[in-house]
Order: sequence, then C-alpha cells, then structure tokens
Amino acid sequence: MAKQTPMMEQYLRIKAEHKDAFLFFRLGDFYEMFFDDAVLAARELEITLTKRDSNSDDPIPMCGVPYHSAENYIKILVEKGYKVAICEQVEDPKVAKGVVKREVIQLITPGTVMEKNMLNEKENNFIASLSHFENSYVVVYSDLSTGENRIALFETDWSGVIHELYNQPIREIVVSSKLDEDLQTQLRERLKVTLSYQDEVTFNAEYRDLCNNLHDERLLNAFSRLLNYIQHTQKRSLDHMQQAELIELDNYLSLDMYSKRNLELTETMMKKEKRGSLLWVLDKTVTAMGSRMVKKWLERPLLNRTLIEERLEIVDGLYQQFMERDDLREILKSVYDLERLAGRIAFGNVNARDLIQLRESLKKIPHLKALLEQFSQPEIQRLAQNFYYPTHIVDLLDKSLVDDPPISVKEGGIIKDGYHQQLDTYKDASRNGKQWIAALEQKEKQETNIKSLKIGYNRVFGYYIEVTKANLHLLPEGRYHRKQTLTNAERFITPELKEKEQLILEAEEKSVELEYQLFIEIRDQMKAYIPELQRLADAISHIDVLQGFATVSEANNYVRPTFAMNHQLQIRQSRHPVIEQVMKEGSFVPNNIDLDEENNILLITGPNMSGKSTYMRQLALTVIMGQIGCFVPCESAELTLFDQIFTRIGAADDLVAGQSTFMVEMLEANHAIANATDKSLILLDEIGRGTSTYDGMALAQAIIEYIHNHIHAKTLFSTHYHELTALENTLANLKNIHVRAEEYEGNVVFLHQIKQGAADESYGIHVAKLADLPNPLIERASEILNELEGKGAKPTSLPSAQETNSTGQLSLFTEAEAPNKASSSKAKVESPVIEELKAIDLFDMTPMDAMNELYRLQKMIKK
Ligand code: ADP
Ligand code: MG
Repeated sequence: MAKQTPMMEQYLRIKAEHKDAFLFFRLGDFYEMFFDDAVLAARELEITLTKRDSNSDDPIPMCGVPYHSAENYIKILVEKGYKVAICEQVEDPKVAKGVVKREVIQLITPGTVMEKNMLNEKENNFIASLSHFENSYVVVYSDLSTGENRIALFETDWSGVIHELYNQPIREIVVSSKLDEDLQTQLRERLKVTLSYQDEVTFNAEYRDLCNNLHDERLLNAFSRLLNYIQHTQKRSLDHMQQAELIELDNYLSLDMYSKRNLELTETMMKKEKRGSLLWVLDKTVTAMGSRMVKKWLERPLLNRTLIEERLEIVDGLYQQFMERDDLREILKSVYDLERLAGRIAFGNVNARDLIQLRESLKKIPHLKALLEQFSQPEIQRLAQNFYYPTHIVDLLDKSLVDDPPISVKEGGIIKDGYHQQLDTYKDASRNGKQWIAALEQKEKQETNIKSLKIGYNRVFGYYIEVTKANLHLLPEGRYHRKQTLTNAERFITPELKEKEQLILEAEEKSVELEYQLFIEIRDQMKAYIPELQRLADAISHIDVLQGFATVSEANNYVRPTFAMNHQLQIRQSRHPVIEQVMKEGSFVPNNIDLDEENNILLITGPNMSGKSTYMRQLALTVIMGQIGCFVPCESAELTLFDQIFTRIGAADDLVAGQSTFMVEMLEANHAIANATDKSLILLDEIGRGTSTYDGMALAQAIIEYIHNHIHAKTLFSTHYHELTALENTLANLKNIHVRAEEYEGNVVFLHQIKQGAADESYGIHVAKLADLPNPLIERASEILNELEGKGAKPTSLPSAQETNSTGQLSLFTEAEAPNKASSSKAKVESPVIEELKAIDLFDMTPMDAMNELYRLQKMIKK
C-alpha cells in the first residue's frame, strides 16, 4: 500500500482499535469513512461513494455524512446491528501543530444506545453477557436506559441457554473472545444479535454495591465482564445501575424459543408485530414503564403459587372496584417515565423540561397512594406502602426551576427568582438597567427638547442615542460622542450610557452562565435520588400492569383461575384470547379442555383448518395467562402449575423458520423430550410432516409412546395420521379427541367443536375445494382417494417404531413394499404440471420455496 498522509496514518491507527465498528472520522463539518467502511456504509446508508486522492494510483474509497444530521445515519446503522465509533477532534485546529489530535469519544452499539429516538419506550433494550464455565453458563442482562441488571446461572446444556436468550429482547451479547466458535456462530445466526468481546473479568471494587448479593464466583465473574465492557468501551457513568437481581430459574415457568414464537406471545410470527400477539391483548397499561413490565412478565411467567395468588388477588380487587380503577388509570396516565429518566439523569442528558415533568409526576404520588388505600383488599392497601412522597426532590425542583423552561439548558430562562442570591443580583442589574435606560430617554428628551430622540440597542454598536439630522443643532457640545452615521440620523453614546451598558451586558452574560452552572448542580444533586426514583418507578409499573390485567379481564370476560394440587386441569368453555379478539364478537366457538393423570395425552385429529392448532395454543396461552397472574378466557378454570412449556410445530407448517428441515424438527422434539418433566406441557402440532408418510408416522408414534411411558408430561398432539388414533388401545393414558366437521351437500362445514374419539375422515380434499382448486383436479383427487381406500392402503396399526433395523435407523418399509402410491395412476394424468411436480426435490427447498413453487404450478393449471 502506498505511503499514507499523516492524517490517514492517524485514521488507520484509530481504526485498528475499532475493527468491528464503523469509524465516523470527524473532518470539518463531516464525519468521513474510508476503505471498506466507506464501501459498506455507502451501501447500507444509500449515500454516494467517492474517492480520496482520485488522481493517485491507489485512490481511497470514501464517503461521509454531515455532522448535523449524523444522528439519523447512526440510528440506521445501529438498528441494523452495527457499531459506530465517533471520532472527534479533541484539540483546537488553530493551535494544533501538525495533524489535529483525534479520539474516539463514544462507541454506539445496539445494546448501549441511550438516545431517545433510538429507543422504543415500550421495550427494554438489553445488552447481555454470556460466560461459559465447566458444566454451566451465566447470563447477565443489563438495560442501560433503565439501569436494570439481572443475572441467571444455567446448570444445563447449551440448548437451554439458547432457548433462554431467544426469549429476551437482546440486541448485543458480550462474550469472551475465547468462546467456542460454533457457539458464537449460533448466537449470531440464531439470535441475530451483535457480538462484542471483553476478556477482562476481574472484579472492580467500584461495582461492590451492585453485586453484594452475589456470592458465587461465577456470577461475579460474569457480571464483571459486562460491567468492564460498559465501562471500558462506553466510558459511561454507572451511577444509575441497580443491584443485580438474581433470577432463580426454578421460580419461573420456562418456555422454549419455539413456544414464544409459535404462541405469538409478544409478536406475530409472520409480521413481527405486536398487534395480533398475546401482549397486544393483555397490555392495557397506561405508562411506558408498565408496558415494559408486562412484556417482562409474559416472557417469564411465575411458578410460585403464593406469588401468583398474590397477583390474582390484587387483580380481583382492582376488577371489582372499577370506579377506583378508572381513577387510578387517570392518574397513572400523567406519570412520566421515571425509570428512563433516572437513566438519563445518570448519563447527564436531561434538560429542565424533563425535570419539570418529573416534578409534576412526583406530585401525583400522594393522590395515587390515597387512592390505593381506598381499595378494600388488604393486598392493594399493602401496595400503597410502596409509595411515599419524596418531598425533598419536589421541593428542590419547585424552588429552583421555573414552570415553563426552554429546551436548551444553555440560554438561561431556567432558574427561578429567589433561588440563588448572586443570580438575583445579576438579573436585577439587567432588569434595573433597562428601566434606567427608559428613564434616561425621558430625561434626554426634556433636556435637549428633541421629541424624536430615542435610545436603542443593536448587537454591533450596543446602546446608542439617536438624533435626526434636522435636530442635531439642538445637541449641546461635549457630552455626546458620535458612534454611527445613518442617512438622516446620527447615533451617539454618552459616558453615562456607556457605563450602564457595560453593567447590563455583563449582568446578562453572567446570569446565563450562572443559570447553566446552577442547572448542572441541580442535575448532579438529582443523581443522589436515582435509587428512590427507581423504586417508585418499580411500584408504579407494578400497579399499572395489574390494573391492566383487571381492565382486560373485565373487558373480555375473563375469570379468575384456581390452581389444583393434584396436577389436573379442567377448563370449561375455553377460548383463544387473541383469535376471539380478531373475530366477530361471539363467533369463536368455546371448548372444554380436560387433562388429568389418566388422560395425560390428548391425540387430536380432524381436517385441516378445523381448529386443532387453535385448541392447542389456547391451552398454552391460558396456562401462561394464569401463571402471570391474569384472569383467563373461559367460563371456569382449574389449572395446575406447569414448570415448562414446549411447543413444536411440524416442519411443513413452520413456514417462518425457513431453515426448518425435518432434521431441525427432530432435534427440537428431542429438546422437549430431554428436558420435559411430568409437570411440563408439551404441544406437538403435526410433528413428522417433514418427511415421507411412514417415516413421519413412525416417528410420531415413537415420540408419543416415549412421552407416555417415560415422561408423563401433559401433552397435546395433533396429527393428520389417522392411523395413530389406534394408540388409544395400547396407551392407557392417551385419549383421542377430534374437531368436528360436517359434510353438507358435498362441502365441508367446520364447527370447531371438540368431541371425544377420533375423527373419521381427513376432509383434505374438501379443503382443497375451499381453496378454489379447479374442479377437474378435485374430481381426479377424489377418484384417486377412492382407489387408495379401496385397496386398503391405510394400515390400521403400525409396527412399533422401536423396531429399527440393524443400522439403528428407522426404516419400516422398503421402496418396493411401500403400499400404493398415486403413481399407479400416472398414465391417466398427463400434464406438464405433473412432470414438474415430480422433478421437484422437496428436501432441497425451504417451506417458503415450496409455497412459491406451488403458487407457480397452480397458476399454470388455473389458466
Ligand atoms: P388446524 O390446525 O386444524 O388446521 P387451525 O387451528 O389453524 O386449524 O384453525 C383454522 C382457523 O379456524 C383459524 O384461523 C380460525 O379462524 C378458525 N377457528 C379455529 N378454532 C376456532 C374456534 N374454536 N371458533 C371459531 N373459529 C375457529
Ligand atoms: Mg394446524
């Protein structure tokens, strides 16, 4: 490479220290990027790529963004998961010898943004750290915007950790550079997070207050990794960081990553939107803090009966006293985001307006407390004790800040009269000075007898006495010194005016400067109150979430669940909380759900589109709602506490995952089987579809048998393999149920009613009809079906799947023995579509590809 100029040498030196970030290199009014940074940034930001030294043999790719609009560009990059290092000139170019000194002053990363416009107020923004020890992992979560820290020890295998991480809103994970490469790749690709590195894990005494509840070396070590990263690379104040909350995983219901996604707890599968998710239905909070908390609760339902009952009790009380609840909502609406505000106080970027909003929010507290005391329920009254009025904070802000300060903190107009003596003197001086000038104008007019004489001010010349040319002769000699000549007037200054001018201007300048200093002092004083603000924020979010549960429970007719000791579950007239919301009122068909020791496994059959998946999901959602302490959508519910929920949707149905092949399906079924206990809930929806019929059926049967004989977890298993219904005869605790559909004049009518026993037909062809496939095709399919059925193709019972061949693989039939394939009738159907269909290699396609291909083929025959 050619020899670089001194400035480019400086650039390269700094860039070498920030290899994984875009280096925004300050040059005049621009941040410039060079080399690969420039090429990538030009593409990501859609800005023009230019060249530096374009005449040289080896011009350097370059692009830049204006300093004043940099924030938007930074936002785009950070949202895409990149890091941006801001490199500024740190000395005055006028006095610099040689190249101006530059330094990276801030590293902006997805997990550490604090800027208001880069954060979603209703969501936490976690940076996590992951540390690997022998036989265990530690995960630490930290939200820099709110100061929350949480820490969990995993004495499980790696898959447990991945499932846990997937369920949290993490943008960035800090790991050791020595973490196994394969694990790093998984974090990057499966979780789509930004990875950062910190190898320094020594404990810094500064952190003592944050960690004095942690007694395990591993926890301290992992927490230090994260804190060191934040401190070293972010150069951030950690003043608002709260003590780490130790998450005892045993106290929570654990959800595998598929459950969170498939059950659409916080966002929908396809569009990734909150609308259509369970959170969308349940979040009736009115504060941003409450909104963040309800999401947290959903991501980690409880397992502790006492805690659940306590929440339910409060929801019950709030449900019943709805007038007081309405008042409560009104007050909460006017409460500002204290938690994020505390973070910004620590970070030093609150303005006076923020503090006024804080003050007004705090003034609501006595009212809030009094209102909670009006509830008859002791649990709610106890909550009132968490609210105390921080008089000292309100007083400080009351006496120091004016009620309507400007946004800028550097231009004065912030501090109240009477707060600071010296400031008052300056302000008096400037106010009095102005009065004095008005008086002087009168005096001069009288003395000179010039009616048009006036005193004015401009930035360049300061104060002046203006006299029209016609009246100049009336001015006495000596005292008036000419300052400026206009076309028909002259402007003068007198020694008296000059002296006053100096006093006024000085006072104004000093007062603005002093106001700024005083504001900084107040802001620093506020730092001491951060923990109090955080405690209040917590109490407010808590009550907000619970009032939200009461509100939604009342609006949607939910009922309070009870929890049985004997691990049985009985739900009368259960509904799907989300689907019933998007359907016409009253059109959702409710169903009972019964599970107990004798009926541990429900095998659900029924045609496509009849409601099998819906039924399974509504059970899981009801369980989760109950365990976060919310009422549930049904007429009555006797629930049981589940320790884990596993959900697996057959690969063929799992369009979103894309990569979801049969192999992944099996790996994940294995994850459920390896971790489930008799206290778990397993939902297996059409498992085994990703492979050929007999393989799939055999595996499905083997899985059911295994769960039945070894795990005893409560399981819902939907299947389109009718053959599996025969299992009811051999597995004592398995019961068949089906979703009823009726044929009416050759069409299928879905009743969405769950009935005992197995479904008799699959109705698949009728569904094809509903989907508007051409009539000849449907007729042909009916013909084939009849033929197949006539030949008795359906085996009524399968050999046990444990009968594997000598290589240990499942192969129940060889190609030759496999009964009937539709191919026997191929001579009759001649169409290019059929030819193309045959040529497709299904196992080389993602589900999405398959959809597209089907669509194309269908178009060919529709014409
Ligand atoms: P399956 O899994 O059997 O193919 P789904 O559970 O996906 O069927 O249900 C298909 C559609 O039927 C749903 O999107 C919903 O609109 C409707 N549906 C399902 N269950 C009910 C019900 N209990 N009441 C009313 N509509 C229902
Ligand atoms: Mg389904």
